[in-house]
Amino acid sequence: MNRSVHIIGLAILAISLTMPTNGCGGNNPSSVKNFSCIESKNPVQILPGTPNIQMRTSRCEDYIFKISKMSAALHIFVPQYAKRFNLDEHVVWSYLENLQIEVSAIPKIVTSAYDVKGNLVKDSPVSGLALSPSSIWVEIRTSQIWSSSLAHELVHVIIWNQNAGIHGDPDHEGKSFSGWSQRHTQFIKDFNLELLDQDI
Ligand SMILES: [Zn+2]
Repeated sequence: MNRSVHIIGLAILAISLTMPTNGCGGNNPSSVKNFSCIESKNPVQILPGTPNIQMRTSRCEDYIFKISKMSAALHIFVPQYAKRFNLDEHVVWSYLENLQIEVSAIPKIVTSAYDVKGNLVKDSPVSGLALSPSSIWVEIRTSQIWSSSLAHELVHVIIWNQNAGIHGDPDHEGKSFSGWSQRHTQFIKDFNLELLDQDI
């Protein structure tokens, strides 16, 4: 299997460290909830209004993004990505068809990864992984989705499918693999700010 790994862009990390995780208070419901596989009837959650996109936790006892919030995030992501990159919305949805999103509050460590500029880093903690053209892992870092690597991993999945499943451009803006440009990095920043604005 092509083990495409990365660490999330430093810019996004910087944003998440400098912005409040709870917005301005008041009407700001969390996008995250506890999950227990013992109490839940459905270990795999199907996201409504999507082409069979599924979400599950890494561990039996874990945190998970609320289905309504995750679904809302995807329904913002797809039209905005389509508009920015001149694609039909249906085409973007088709790239995400049957996507499996695994989430966890527990970060992972990988032996090698690329940062957003394409530099190789060793034994690094990661906040997200694109595992295949149809599966990603996303760390739950705060009570909202905007601070997670969701958008970053979705971009990998789209590029991976555009590349006929050959690779998802694991080195991002680096030159070893093609697909990812500064425009993708900028899109992710803009999209996450939009989610922040909407308390997602
Ligand atoms: Zn990446």
